[in-house]
Amino acid sequence: MANYNPMTSEDARELAGIVGEAHVVWRDAEKLEACSHDETPDRRWARMPEAVAHPRTAGEIAAIMKLANRRLIPVTPRGAGSGLSGGAVPLHGGIVLHLDRMDRILEIDRENMMAVVEPGVVTNEINEALRPAGLFYPGYPMSLETCHIGGNVAENAGGAKAVKYGVTGRYVLGLEVVTPTGDVVQLGGKRVKDVTGYDLVQLMVGSEGTLGIFTRITLRLMPLVKASADLLCVFRSVGEAIRAVPRMMTQGAVIPAAVEFMDRDSLRAACEYLNEPPAAPDAEAMLLVTVEGASAEAVERDYDALGREALAAGAIEVFVADNRTTSERVWRIRRNISEALSLISRNQSNEDIVVPIAAIPQLVDGLRALSRKWGLFMPCFGHAGDGNMHVRIVMDPAWTMERWNETLPQALRELYLLTASLGGTISGEHGIGHKRKAYVPLVLSEPHLNMMRAIKRGLDPNNVLNPGKKFDV
Ligand SMILES: Cc1cc2nc3c(=O)[nH]c(=O)nc-3n(C[C@H](O)[C@H](O)[C@H](O)COP(=O)(O)OP(=O)(O)OC[C@H]3O[C@@H](n4cnc5c(N)ncnc54)[C@H](O)[C@@H]3O)c2cc1C
Repeated sequence: MANYNPMTSEDARELAGIVGEAHVVWRDAEKLEACSHDETPDRRWARMPEAVAHPRTAGEIAAIMKLANRRLIPVTPRGAGSGLSGGAVPLHGGIVLHLDRMDRILEIDRENMMAVVEPGVVTNEINEALRPAGLFYPGYPMSLETCHIGGNVAENAGGAKAVKYGVTGRYVLGLEVVTPTGDVVQLGGKRVKDVTGYDLVQLMVGSEGTLGIFTRITLRLMPLVKASADLLCVFRSVGEAIRAVPRMMTQGAVIPAAVEFMDRDSLRAACEYLNEPPAAPDAEAMLLVTVEGASAEAVERDYDALGREALAAGAIEVFVADNRTTSERVWRIRRNISEALSLISRNQSNEDIVVPIAAIPQLVDGLRALSRKWGLFMPCFGHAGDGNMHVRIVMDPAWTMERWNETLPQALRELYLLTASLGGTISGEHGIGHKRKAYVPLVLSEPHLNMMRAIKRGLDPNNVLNPGKKFDV
């Protein structure tokens, strides 16, 4: 445990002097509690902050970081709190830096196909604003209606469309960052190419709020997609569905925008949650495949090829959704799986493993063997097109907490070792936070961790910015 100072009334007054009294929460247990957790289902990962500050400018954040270094008070950046690894949880108390007031889209630069945004903009709102300009931002996390772009950059969020467009980092060209010691620095900018120095923009991407606080983000954009369609491929077995994924892309010779996998339990949970009739009640698994292209004809050609491969791989039915209403209905089910499964039990672990796509069938076979061995309910869904699977490990209600607490770490360890043995790793997009920190040495070597420690110590000598996350300094 680091030697941080508990906050005093004097510190709270100083904080109020920086951001304004109305924008500080202090000694209000109910409001502080709201920033004690993210969406990680198990509340054992939660910790109470001592204060929450809602800054409006980079200058205010810089002043807070100077206060934090002078008084040795930990600071935890927070976006929408939709994270699934405890990244925004103030592990050592101190100040939560809530970035919700920094929510402006500052510029849509059509000529350069870029946008400059503040970190607290809700991800979905970026595309709403871009549509009239004929542009789009390809980030598509399933939480896009709530999460913030700043949180997406900090987690290097992936999502459904990463299979074609890649993850958040690919679209981040510039960042204004407040350093842990309170300087404001512009990294990168509107340049597509830049090798003048280390690539600090991409070092910041995915740093989970441990290396700097992003206050302005320059995003690269794409021309608005002209046509799209979704295929819903129904399978009698999980194995057939999963084996179809690499086949569709290689034999079909098409890279879809999304290939989402849903097993029967995940589908059922989401349909019940949304009061929808069960989608294809006999299905053991489904693939939701999105094709995007320059014209309706090109899209039709592509989904024909993919649909043929799905049928050849064992799909019993392939439905095409080529209008917005039907597509949205299917995607709504997919987007709500996570929420629906969270309601099954408070005692569950939400996993985010990733393997090379060709290894997905072996991964799923291994998961089923683990589920049998440990007697655990393990519904599974996720971004099969890029090898990133979300597995829920849910406690049997008949178990005691002691049995669960003993079994879960062992099952997780085996799951992560299985993933690593297939060339994968323990998180594809949800991050490490403090939830997975204990397992990082299973996949990163000591010299690798030492490089990360050197960077963290160099930038944050007092270890005040989001301490205790990702790895132990
Ligand atoms: C239903 C559901 C579906 C989801 N689906 C996906 C998905 O498909 N793909 C995916 O990748 N994730 C997904 N997530 C996880 C989550 O939405 C993402 O990790 C998201 O990027 C977090 O954004 P946030 O604004 O909520 O960040 P928070 O949870 O508030 O914070 C996340 C991390 O970012 C840091 N941070 C936040 N803002 C800043 C900033 N301005 N500067 C520096 N650090 C900052 C925090 O310190 C923390 O470490 C899902 C979550 C839910 C609940």
